[in-house]
Amino acid sequence: MVACPLCTNEGTRQRWAGVPDRLFRMTTKRFDLNACPACGTTFVHPAPAADELAALYPEQYWVGPPDREAEAGLMARLLERYRRFVLRDHVRFVRRVIDDQRRAGAQIAVLDVGCGDGSFLDALGERGGVGMDLSEPALRAVERRGFRGVRGTLDDCPLEPGSFSLVTAFHFLEHVRPPEVALAAMRRLLAPGGELVLQVPNRRSVQAILFGAGWAGHDVPRHLINYSPETLRALLERSGFEIVAETKRSLRDNPALLAASLAPRLYPPARMAHLQGPDGLGGAICNVLFLGVTLACMPLSWIEQCIGRGASVMVRARPRA
Ligand SMILES: [Zn+2]
Repeated sequence: MVACPLCTNEGTRQRWAGVPDRLFRMTTKRFDLNACPACGTTFVHPAPAADELAALYPEQYWVGPPDREAEAGLMARLLERYRRFVLRDHVRFVRRVIDDQRRAGAQIAVLDVGCGDGSFLDALGERGGVGMDLSEPALRAVERRGFRGVRGTLDDCPLEPGSFSLVTAFHFLEHVRPPEVALAAMRRLLAPGGELVLQVPNRRSVQAILFGAGWAGHDVPRHLINYSPETLRALLERSGFEIVAETKRSLRDNPALLAASLAPRLYPPARMAHLQGPDGLGGAICNVLFLGVTLACMPLSWIEQCIGRGASVMVRARPRA
């Protein structure tokens, strides 16, 4: 009997057995994914222990150059332009929250949990933003962009409760278990009138169903729990939040998830996880190829979004009074 990590139903069943770490190849171990017939969640079972989990992450688990000081070439500048352009859906969605808060007279203070190199904070352009991550190189990049970087986790960080009008966490919640603890910690960090914006891969997207266990959005074994829009909503409601808005559009994530499912060896962060020495011309060619695959995936990903089955789901939620 294995209980579902979201709805606690005890009758979960093995859905996929012996799934390899297809994307990052950090381990040769294989993992099982269980499915819950009651709520539809799938999850890695048994969940790796905390110390095992840490070893399953490459030093760099985000998209972007490993150390921006070393990157000033044309390729790096083009990559930065591209990344900023494809963040438009994220920025637009979050901008609406900030505009509403500003109209209500709130002081804007943004915390981005799992901020990577700070590209979202930069694209959003709200001065005073704070990025939280565990990676030192990521935080150095955040600070070079002019934002405060905080090393820590939600339950072990030097941030004052009630000090943020907005907490964002893109592709974060699927990595933590139990998610209720992370949501409670985010809630504590919110000032009165504060809101959350969360984004996770959508396990009910067309590409998730086509690729099954090998879908990049499942990212076995790092994604401990795979959400659908329904299970994400249910979790938030159970945790004392009300959903204000939802979108399954994401120009940055949806085509790239499809591209990484088709060509995992070309996926830049996964390639860089195994890089010995400089990336060189071969790396540049791989990046261009991956960009080509991603661009080719855009029409398919757009169709998927149009029928309401986009590869990621982003929600805006506020604590219920
Ligand atoms: Zn369940």
